[in-house]
Amino acid sequence: MQLLALKTEHLAASTVHVGATAVGGPELALMAGPCAVESFEQMRRTADALISLGIRCIRGGVYKPRTSPYSFQGLGEAGLEIFRAIKRETGLAVVSEVMSVTHLEQAADTFDCFQVGSRNMQNFELLKELGKMRKPVLLKRGLAATIEEFINAAEYVLSEGNPHVILCERGIRSFDPLTRNVLDLASVALLKQMTHLPVIVDPSHATGKRSLVLPCSRAAVAVGADGLIVEVHPEPEKSVSDAAQALSFDDLAQLVAEVEPIAAAVGKPLPQAEYSFEF
Ligand code: PEP
Ligand code: MN
Repeated sequence: MQLLALKTEHLAASTVHVGATAVGGPELALMAGPCAVESFEQMRRTADALISLGIRCIRGGVYKPRTSPYSFQGLGEAGLEIFRAIKRETGLAVVSEVMSVTHLEQAADTFDCFQVGSRNMQNFELLKELGKMRKPVLLKRGLAATIEEFINAAEYVLSEGNPHVILCERGIRSFDPLTRNVLDLASVALLKQMTHLPVIVDPSHATGKRSLVLPCSRAAVAVGADGLIVEVHPEPEKSVSDAAQALSFDDLAQLVAEVEPIAAAVGKPLPQAEYSFEF
């Protein structure tokens, strides 16, 4: 049986629209924001920084899948309220994680794109429910998922009738803790060859280190990723979660500047916008 995710001779590559950001189109898609929504002020400052860089999609978890049940679990409903205010004030689109069908119901009116995190890539009931919606799904590769399992997870959403799936390579677990995960760039190239779905890269979770996010972003764009989703925070070292990998606004400006010529060289330029690298 031919999977819906797979490329066929006659099927054009899919473009998934998250607000004003087209993922899988002719231009490189950029999404950024903190690991977790912590306060309105944090999100508003982040939103302003993104806008000044031409980025139209903000991320941030309100439901956080933490390794320890004693770690910060996200603001939940209060976080949704913050996102609604940010959307009202800035018009940015929101991508954020849901871990259950209950989250999906709570966040349906607030999130523009539902992220399925690595730990839930094979939460099949959640995937089926997302398949019944018509909003974009950003599906992250499981911590130790094969590429075939990743494609099948996407198939769960597609087979229920929702064609708006974005694949996200975020690194896979290996034996070396110095790089949090192993960024599998070959999977990006292979997924682009095998499927018609947009493929983006999360260099933040893939590396776990601020200093590796820029070089790996450049590599991801060079290998043919349709976009990047990166963690950024107004005060990176104060991030409640994933502080070590959070970029500052200046780092993010540098990332955009460094990625721009590579994106142009591989034929997927940044959207034309007025960039200003001042904060
Ligand atoms: C996240 O995006 O904040 C996150 C938890 O990512 P992942 O599921 O890739 O670990
Ligand atoms: Mn994170």
